[in-house]
Amino acid sequence: MDRQQEFVLRTLEERDIRFIRLWFSDVLGFLKSVAIAPAELEGAFAEGIGFDGSAIEGFARVYESDMLAKPDPSTFQILPWRSESPGAARIFCDILMPDGSPSHADPRWVLKRALAKASDMGFSFYTHPEVEFFLLRGRPEPGVRPQPMDDGGYFDHTPHSSGHDFRRNAIMMLESMGISVEFSHHEGGPGQQEIDLRYADALTTADNIMTFRLVMKEVALEQGVWASFMPKPFTEHPGSGMHTHMSLFEGDRNAFYEPGAEYQLSKIGRSFIGGLLRHAAEITAVCNQWVNSYKRLWGSSEAIAGQGGEAPSYISWGHNNRSALVRVPMYKPHKSGSTRIEFRSLDSACNPYLAFAVILAAGLKGIEEGYEMPPGAEDDVWALTSAERRALGIAPLPQSLDEAIVAMERSELVAETLGEHVFDYFLRNKRSEWQEYRRQVTEYELGRYLPVL
Ligand code: GLU
Ligand code: MG
Ligand code: MG
Repeated sequence: MDRQQEFVLRTLEERDIRFIRLWFSDVLGFLKSVAIAPAELEGAFAEGIGFDGSAIEGFARVYESDMLAKPDPSTFQILPWRSESPGAARIFCDILMPDGSPSHADPRWVLKRALAKASDMGFSFYTHPEVEFFLLRGRPEPGVRPQPMDDGGYFDHTPHSSGHDFRRNAIMMLESMGISVEFSHHEGGPGQQEIDLRYADALTTADNIMTFRLVMKEVALEQGVWASFMPKPFTEHPGSGMHTHMSLFEGDRNAFYEPGAEYQLSKIGRSFIGGLLRHAAEITAVCNQWVNSYKRLWGSSEAIAGQGGEAPSYISWGHNNRSALVRVPMYKPHKSGSTRIEFRSLDSACNPYLAFAVILAAGLKGIEEGYEMPPGAEDDVWALTSAERRALGIAPLPQSLDEAIVAMERSELVAETLGEHVFDYFLRNKRSEWQEYRRQVTEYELGRYLPVL
């Protein structure tokens, strides 16, 4: 037994933890959990705990449904909302096949493979997500319009605002689980919140996002509200993105940083952006995996400002340009070496393991191939005409799940990064979601056509 495992077992006794929740993610990014008794944990560290994977979304074909969940002791945390004794704790797991080899369906394994590739090239990958979500009154019910919890706006601080209390409690709970928060504020839409997690290696960040979504839902329930990560719950308000800042490190050195270069951005950084842009359309289905995601990536224009809410809809990069897909932020010029890249299409309802894996793979491809970045677009790309955009070589992001699926199907990069099993399952699942959606007659159509046709 290694020292981390010993530490976990000792803590269980000292803190009177009687329930251990083994956590993992299904292919779509839903958190799965199985509880075991403390006495089982030592065996679980050694061999894993058997479970039937056939019921887990995307995990198994029936003939290989036996799987093992093997806890990763570095992710042990006591659950603060079960703090009364006896307590409960969670540990993230790797999923193995009965012979002990990694399961190709496990999203954590997909990300680990992508990180191993980065490591072979000498890099480690760090991410910092800005997670946006809505707080709504009451539990969602089919056919009932969601009601935002408040009518605040960007950075609003209204006295006695329940959003403020919510963020305070939520952040305290995150911090008590070892998840550091850098920044939090009210976002642009009513009831909309943003909480930014501190930089961490991408695997830790992905685990943290899974925890984050659950913690937000727990804290919301405690306060009688509902937290939703749906990308675009309101037609008339901005959607919830998960802009992610990222950098590659070579040892202690930020590989994106070059003093004196334009934007202090190194050749490696420029090629990484080149890769992100060149492969942007192919990775969109993974970064924006729901029919509803594309209602957010709809873009914006002066005439209907606010509705697209600064979510990107074109494949471009910029410096001060909030309509761009990729941004090189410069708001910390005093901090040398802090060069990073912000990728802005991601939404808060993605599977963070798979999304980080394909983003990293696209960036690494750019480095391997030595891609150069196209010229930056400092103008608001939404305000340009289609002809102007074409002249600048700025293509649109996929405009629907259907278009995104078509782009992904042709992608060698995504197939290789996700592996055959996840790639095939994901496409099948998403095609069927699109078919289901396409046959729906919507409220919009009834309102628009029944009176006149
Ligand atoms: N809510 C916007 C989006 O969907 C982002 C707003 C911002 O933080 O700039 O991407
Ligand atoms: Mg924001
Ligand atoms: Mg941002």
